[in-house]
Amino acid sequence: MTPGTLYIVATPIGNLEDITYRAVRILGEVDLIAAEDTRHSLKLLNHFGISRPLTSYFDHNQQIKGERILNALRQGKSVALISDAGTPTVSDPGYQLVRDAVAENIPVIPVPGACAAVTAISASGLPTDVFTFAGFPPSRQGKRRTFLSGIASLPGTLVLYEAPHRLLETLGDIREVLGERQVIVARELTKIHEEFIRGTVTEVITTVSRGIVRGEVVILIAPGEPAPQEFEPLDSVLGRLMSDRTLSVKDMAKQASEIAGVSRSEAYAEALKLRNHAD
Ligand code: SAM
Repeated sequence: MTPGTLYIVATPIGNLEDITYRAVRILGEVDLIAAEDTRHSLKLLNHFGISRPLTSYFDHNQQIKGERILNALRQGKSVALISDAGTPTVSDPGYQLVRDAVAENIPVIPVPGACAAVTAISASGLPTDVFTFAGFPPSRQGKRRTFLSGIASLPGTLVLYEAPHRLLETLGDIREVLGERQVIVARELTKIHEEFIRGTVTEVITTVSRGIVRGEVVILIAPGEPAPQEFEPLDSVLGRLMSDRTLSVKDMAKQASEIAGVSRSEAYAEALKLRNHAD
């Protein structure tokens, strides 16, 4: 039997206008919708007049429900996976289901749309050419600091999800582990109280400490300064290269200028002096 298709359908992260025409059509056509929280998703589906069989698929029933959903797909039924908000599988359940479907050659089709990480970075003003989405930091401070030091030297902007009640603690650890970087807290994206709190991590901590942080937040961390390149002193490089008598002064100068971080002419002059002295 030809298997059905598993659609990974993104839903809004706040503003209901952010659903796509395609998502509405697919959700209205599939045989089954698998949702993280069926009661929550029912509100969305009712809003768009979608009435399809609904089943739950969340962290703690993934194994059992995953098998049932795979069975439906094997029997030729089409299934749409949605999460409470945004793109399923991104800090949300679904990765195992996709992996297992792929392993069985069941077609998996993404239906893209909102994702809080991409929404936040797109309007952040921080570099977007290279960025790392690192999901939620661990909730315990020790593990969180270890996690932060593991990503501290990655190139580009860092993007984290965080629960509002842990925001201040995590910002404190960011200052401790990564130092005084520029940080943005993107709050309540696409909703009425959308806000970008920008500044150094200390400034953002001060702003955030003024009140109670409500709603959902994404933390963006600007890239750190690149570590200064370490060069070896010219005389020590040349001293080493001199022992290789097969190297011409020109070749020595070329290599030494790169290792010592000096101009080729300076390295050449010094190499010539040493070679003449040695001869
Ligand atoms: N799958 C979702 C996505 O595509 O963004 C993420 C789900 S994850 C369980 C929920 C986290 O995403 C929140 O704790 C918050 O960090 C972030 N988030 C979701 N919606 C948001 C919003 N409207 N504004 C800011 N952050 C949001």
